[in-house]
Amino acid sequence: MNTTTARTITANDRVYRVPQEPTVVFTVDGGDPDYFDDALDRAIMPRLAGMLAAGGEYRLGASEMPSLTNPNNLSIVTGVSPALHGVPGNYCRLEDGTLELLNDPKFLRAPSIHAVLAAHDVPTLMVTTKEKLRRLLGHGGVPSISVEEAAGTGLPAYGVEDLQDLVGVEAPGIYDWDASHYAMRLGLAIYRHHRDLRLLYVSLTDRVQHATAPGEELSDRFLVAFDTLLGEYLDEGFTVGITADHGMNAKHAPDGTPTVHYLTDVLQDAGVEVHDVVLPITDPYVRHHGALGSFAWLYLPESARARARAVLAALPGVEEVWDRGDAATIYEHPVDRIGDLAVTAAAHVALGARERDHDLSGLHAALRSHGGRHEQPVPLITSRPVSGPLAARYRAGVLRSRDLHDLVLNHLPNHPPAPNE
Ligand SMILES: [Zn+2]
Repeated sequence: MNTTTARTITANDRVYRVPQEPTVVFTVDGGDPDYFDDALDRAIMPRLAGMLAAGGEYRLGASEMPSLTNPNNLSIVTGVSPALHGVPGNYCRLEDGTLELLNDPKFLRAPSIHAVLAAHDVPTLMVTTKEKLRRLLGHGGVPSISVEEAAGTGLPAYGVEDLQDLVGVEAPGIYDWDASHYAMRLGLAIYRHHRDLRLLYVSLTDRVQHATAPGEELSDRFLVAFDTLLGEYLDEGFTVGITADHGMNAKHAPDGTPTVHYLTDVLQDAGVEVHDVVLPITDPYVRHHGALGSFAWLYLPESARARARAVLAALPGVEEVWDRGDAATIYEHPVDRIGDLAVTAAAHVALGARERDHDLSGLHAALRSHGGRHEQPVPLITSRPVSGPLAARYRAGVLRSRDLHDLVLNHLPNHPPAPNE
C-alpha cells in the first residue's frame, strides 16, 4: 500500500484533512430537498433516518447558479465557484463565438480535491452515471468510471479487468430508472475489491427526478433503492456526505403544457436584434428536459440591450436580468464564458430559444427541470454531527454545496482539525 504520510493537502487555497477512513460523497442529481423531506416524513428511507437519528445532520445549502449539473459537480469536487473552475454551464459560447458542451477537461481551470489527493498517493475514485461527467471529474489522474461505459471497461489503477463482472450485474442503460444505483454499486464493489480507497465521489443521474415528483411511484422506488445502498456504505464503515447538484421543479401548466418563454422569438417579435440565445442546460441527454431550464444567456448588440431588458422584464415569470459584469459578480462566473445578459425565470417557468428548435416529443413526462434560483437550495447531509468553524453557518443553512468536502473531511467528530483552524 502506497499511502501518503501527509495529514493535510491544499486544493484551490482550501486545506483538507487526508481521510484515514473510507469517505464517500454522493451527489444526487436533481435531488431536491422536497424528495428527502417527503421520504423522511413517510419513513421510506430507514437507513437515512437512522443515520440522522444517530447523530448525522441534514441542513440546506445553496448550489451554484445556474443550478445545473456540470457547474455544480465541478464546484462540489473543487471546493470553488465557477469563476475559478471555469465551467459556468453544461454548455456555453466561448469568446471566439463557438458553442461548446463543457465536457472536456481542457475547459477546467482548477484541480479537484481528489486530483490533489491522488497526487499525494491517496487512493480516490470518481464514479459517474453519465459519461459526459467522467472525463471532467477524472481530470488530474483520478481513477474514474461511468455506468454508461461500464460494460467491457476495466479500472487498471485498482486491478479491475471488467467493471460489470466485478459488480456481478449487467449495467443498466443511461435512461433506466436504476442507472444511478448502479453507480453506487460500482463504488461499493471497487471498495470491497480495494479497501485502501479513502475518498469516493459518486455522481448520480436525474432521469427519475426529471420525470417524477416527490411521492410518485418511480420516485419512491428510486429513493428506497438509494437508501438500501446508503445502508451498505454505512455498514462498511464509510463516513458519508450527501448533496445534490441542483433541485427540480415542474415547469408546466396543470394540463401538462410546458410553461416556456422562447426568448429568440419574443425578442424578434418585439423588433429587438439578438445574435444568440444560449441555454446552458443543453447536454446530450435531451430526453430529460428538451434543453429547457430556467436560465439563459443572451448575446446581442450593445445598442439593443436596454430594449431587450425592458422586453424581458415585462415577461411574467422572468425574475432576474443582469448584464455580464453584474452576472459575473453575483453568480461568481468566469466573465469570458457568459452572455451579454443573464436571465433567470420563476420556479414553474422555463426559458427557450426558438420554439421550432426545441423537440419535446421525447420527454419522459410533463416538463420538470431546473437551472434557476428556485432549484438552488440543496440538501447538505452528513453522517455525523458537524463541529468546528463551519458549524454555525451549516446550521444556519448558508453554506454552499462546494463546502461539503470541507464539512465531511474537516468538521466531523473524532477527526483532528486541519492545522489552519
Ligand atoms: Zn443535474
